[in-house]
Amino acid sequence: MSSHAPQVVEIIPEKTPIRVVPATALPHLDGALSYRCETPLHIGQLVATPLGKRQVVGLVIGRADASAAMTLKTVTPFHADYHLIPEMQQFLDWVAKWYLEKPGLVLKMASSVPSALKDDALSIGYHAIASPDQAKTARRQSILAELAGKVPETLSAIRAMTGATASTIKAMCDDGLLAAVPMTPDNSANLLDHMTIQDRLKSLKDEQSTAAKTLAKAVTAKQYSAFLLDGVTGSGKTEVYFEAVAAALKAGRQALILLPEIALSQAFERRCYERFGFRPGMWHSGLTDSRRRAVWRDAIRGKPMIVAGARSALFLPFKNPGVIIVDEEHEQSFRQQDGVRYHARDMAVLRAHLSQIPVILSSATPSLESLVNAEQGKYHHIRLMSRYGAAGMPDMALIDLGKTPAERRRWLSPPLVDAISKALEQKEQVLLFLNRRGYAPMSLCLSCRERIVCPNCSAWLVTHKSAGELRCHHCGHNSQFPSICPSCQTEGMIMSCGPGVERLAEEVTIRFPEARQGIFSSDAITTPALAEQFFNAVHNDEIDIIIGTQMVAKGHHFPDLTLVGVVDADLGLGGADLRGGELSWQLLTQVAGRAGRAERPGKVLLQTAMPQSAVLQSLIHDDRDGFIEAEKAARQDAAMPPYGRLAAVILSGRDEARLMIIARQMVDHWPNFDGVTLLGPAPAPLRLLRRNYRVRFLLKSERDVNLQRVITSWLAAISIPSAVSCQVDIDPVSFF
Ligand SMILES: [Zn+2]
Ligand SMILES: [Zn+2]
Repeated sequence: MSSHAPQVVEIIPEKTPIRVVPATALPHLDGALSYRCETPLHIGQLVATPLGKRQVVGLVIGRADASAAMTLKTVTPFHADYHLIPEMQQFLDWVAKWYLEKPGLVLKMASSVPSALKDDALSIGYHAIASPDQAKTARRQSILAELAGKVPETLSAIRAMTGATASTIKAMCDDGLLAAVPMTPDNSANLLDHMTIQDRLKSLKDEQSTAAKTLAKAVTAKQYSAFLLDGVTGSGKTEVYFEAVAAALKAGRQALILLPEIALSQAFERRCYERFGFRPGMWHSGLTDSRRRAVWRDAIRGKPMIVAGARSALFLPFKNPGVIIVDEEHEQSFRQQDGVRYHARDMAVLRAHLSQIPVILSSATPSLESLVNAEQGKYHHIRLMSRYGAAGMPDMALIDLGKTPAERRRWLSPPLVDAISKALEQKEQVLLFLNRRGYAPMSLCLSCRERIVCPNCSAWLVTHKSAGELRCHHCGHNSQFPSICPSCQTEGMIMSCGPGVERLAEEVTIRFPEARQGIFSSDAITTPALAEQFFNAVHNDEIDIIIGTQMVAKGHHFPDLTLVGVVDADLGLGGADLRGGELSWQLLTQVAGRAGRAERPGKVLLQTAMPQSAVLQSLIHDDRDGFIEAEKAARQDAAMPPYGRLAAVILSGRDEARLMIIARQMVDHWPNFDGVTLLGPAPAPLRLLRRNYRVRFLLKSERDVNLQRVITSWLAAISIPSAVSCQVDIDPVSFF
C-alpha cells in the first residue's frame, strides 16, 4: 500500500514558489495551486490561503515551478504545530483517489474547525477538584457529580448543564471544590494532562482476558494489524477493546473510537469515565465550536487522548495515533451518503495501515466483508462466545401472521398480545420493535386511490401525527395533513395506511391502558441528553413498554427487559439491495440481543408473513454460520461484493429527458473494459430527489479490477453540462 520508510520533512526556504491544496473544491486534478511564502515552510504545514476574495485553509504539498514566482499570491502559515504528518497527508491523498473526490474537499474534512487554527480570546473555565461527597449540600453535590471527570467548562456551559448560578460557582471555588483555569488555545480536550490513568479494570473472563492481552500487545508492537472482534451482545467487547485503548494511553499515544450512533454517546462517555477516570474528547456535529476546537488541537499536537465520535472523527489530524476502534463495524451509518462518499470502516483500516497501528473492528453481527477478510487471513478473528454475567441468549420464536393475524387495522397478533400481558403481569419490561418512524408510512385517497407523494421526491409522505404533519424522509419537506385530496379534491377520504411507531403506540394505549410507554426513535430522541433521560426512565422502571425503531438496536441494554416483540420482521427483506438479507439479519439479531441481559432469560417473538425466509429460519435456529455461508455462496455466485466490486455513477438534474440523452452518450463512449460490466442507464429507484431527476449506472467487476481508473478514463471522454451533476459512488452501500 505504501512505503514505510521514515520520511524526512523537507523545509522549503522563504520566497520559494510552492504548491498548496486549498480546502475547497477545485477542478484541477491534484486540487493544488501555486503560491509563495515570506517565511520558510515545510511540506504538510497548514497555511492561510487566499482564494479569490476568500481566505481558506490550505495544505503545503511541495515546490512549484519557479517561472511565475513574482506574480504569485502569498500564503501565511498558521502556528507551526498545525501541520499534518506524512501519514496523514498520504491518507487524505488515498481517500481522494479511492473515492475519486477532489483533494481539497477531503482536506476540508481534516480541517473542519477553521477557528481552531486561530487564537482564542482568553476565557475562564472551571473543573471539579473534589468528589461529590465532599460537598455539604445536595445542590453542590449534584454540580460536582455533573462535572466529575470533565475538562474545564465555561461558566455559561456549566449554567446550561446544571443550572448553577455564577455566585454558586464562585463560592465553590472559594471552598476548594472547583478550580478556575484559563481557557487558552492550549486548553485540552481531555484531563490526561492533569491525571494519571486510573486502572479500574473489571475482572475479565478467560476468553475476554486472552482477547484483551492480544489487542494490548498489538498496540504495544506499533505495527499495522487488523482485528475482527466478534462477540455476541453482552460478551464484553467494549471492556476488551478498552484494554487496547489503555495500552495506547500508557504508551503516550492517541486512541480513536468510532461510534455508530451519537445519540447514545452519553452512556459511552460514562463507561469511559468509569474505566479510565476521565471522559473522552467527543467529536460530532452537535458539539460547540469550542469543544471541537479543543479536540482538534489536541489531536494535531499529539496529546495522549481518547477521542470517541462519529465517522468524521476519522479525519482528525492525529499526530500520534496508537489504535483505531470501529464499534459496531457492520453499521451503515459509517458510510457517508453525501459530499465525500466514504466508508469510515474501510478508511479506518487504510489509515491504520498507513500509520502502522492496529485497527479493531468490533461487532456482534460482523459485516460479510469483514468476515471474508478474516477468513482470508487479512484480519485476525477474535470470537467471544459467552455473555457477561448470568444471562444466556434469548429464546426466539416466529409468529406466523398467516395463521394468527392481527385484527383489521391492528398490528399486534394475539400470541404477541398474550406474551406482552404476561410480561407486564410479571412486572417485566417489553420492547416492541418497528423500524418505521412516524405514524403511517403512506396515505391513500379512498376516492381516487392516489397516494400522497412528496412534491420534491418520488417518495410517499410519512404521517407524523404528533407533529400534525406529513414529512418526506428524503428531503425534509413537510406539510399539514390534508383534509382534501390533492389529486381529486374530495374531502375527508384520506386514509393512513400501515403502521409507524406512533400508530403502534396508539394500539398499545388501547390494549394496555395501564402500561407506561415511551417511543425511542430519531424523531423523539434528538440529542444525547434526551437519550440519557429515556434510559434513566427505563432503568428507574418508569416505562413498561418501549416502542423503538432501529435506533434502539444500537448497543444499549436494559436489564429488566425480558420480551422483545418484532412487529414486522419482514421489513427490509423484499428490497433489491444486495445486502438486504444481511442487514435484516444484523438488525434483528441486534434487537434480539436487547432481551434478557441480566438475571432473567429473554424471549423474542417475530411477527412474519414469510416464516420460511432464510433470515428468520437462521435466527430461530440460532444458525449464524449457516446463514453466513448461504449469503457468501449467493454473493460468490453472483460475483457481488465482497467477491466482486461495484461502483455507481449517478446523473441528476432538473430535465429528465436531457439526463437520458447524456446517459446514452455515455453508453456510446463506454470502451468495453475487460472484466467490467456496465449496467444501465436506468431511472434510479428514487427517481426524483430534491426536485432533481436521477439516472443510475452500475459498474460491476471482478475483485482485482481498478474500477477507479476505468471510471476516470470513461468520464474523461464525455463532457457533462454544468446543469447535470455526475456523482461517483465507489463501493456503494445504498442503491436507491
Ligand atoms: Zn383523491
Ligand atoms: Zn422529498
